[in-house]
Amino acid sequence: MRYALILLLLLLATSAAGANLDFTLHKLDSGRPGPTILVVGGVQGDEPGGFSAAALLISHYRITSGAVWVVPNLNFLSIIRCSRGVYGDMNRKFADLDPGDPEYAAVQNIKHIITDPRVDAVLHLHDGWGFYSPTTVSDWQCPQRWGQSVIIDQDTLDAKRFGNLGELAATAAAAANEHLYDPIHAYHVKNTHTRELENENRQGDVQDPDVFRPRQPEAGLRRRGQQELAPGHAHLLPPARHRILSPLLRRDLRADL
Ligand SMILES: [Zn+2]
Repeated sequence: MRYALILLLLLLATSAAGANLDFTLHKLDSGRPGPTILVVGGVQGDEPGGFSAAALLISHYRITSGAVWVVPNLNFLSIIRCSRGVYGDMNRKFADLDPGDPEYAAVQNIKHIITDPRVDAVLHLHDGWGFYSPTTVSDWQCPQRWGQSVIIDQDTLDAKRFGNLGELAATAAAAANEHLYDPIHAYHVKNTHTRELENENRQGDVQDPDVFRPRQPEAGLRRRGQQELAPGHAHLLPPARHRILSPLLRRDLRADL
């Protein structure tokens, strides 16, 4: 299955931009009015749930209003090599990056797309580690984990559209929870309170989300991809382990998992 999905990504890239390993942008436009949502997958090549879900949007979905732009393979070389990051973690390269970095062009290009004025919101798809739970059930199901959660940085923000992050995330999680394979897969909203922590960080250290790094292949790849997409049916907000980024927070992409 893993190889089939990688092949799908490869075919998508080949058809869209020639046979190279640059990421591809697929604009799925309904031709009808509505917002434009950017979905990004594959910033880390060892998180197949994220890039597989993004690829499935292109191959299996028809957009009925507005537009969905999809970058399914942001760190394509790392996906092909099943590596978190051949040149390091790309998700840590959005704030500052040496122009000599091999991924400098890719990072600049995706930032250009993220800040496109036509984009109303950005969903950044990842694969989670364990199961986020607001209460501690076990080492793998506790507030420190990231899996099965819609991740937001703050409850609301001042944005033209989609500023009600908490409400959107809660709605998407509830929709996903209507179609669970197993109760342990229940979705939650995980608010990182990044802005408040950044303010506090001026006096101290912010917890590094990377402290929980080991992976838990708790479900097959196809199931994980489906779980990622489940709430998208209702809201075009595929939530699992995603960060919902508003235009004002796009620069914080680096702060993700
Ligand atoms: Zn990740």
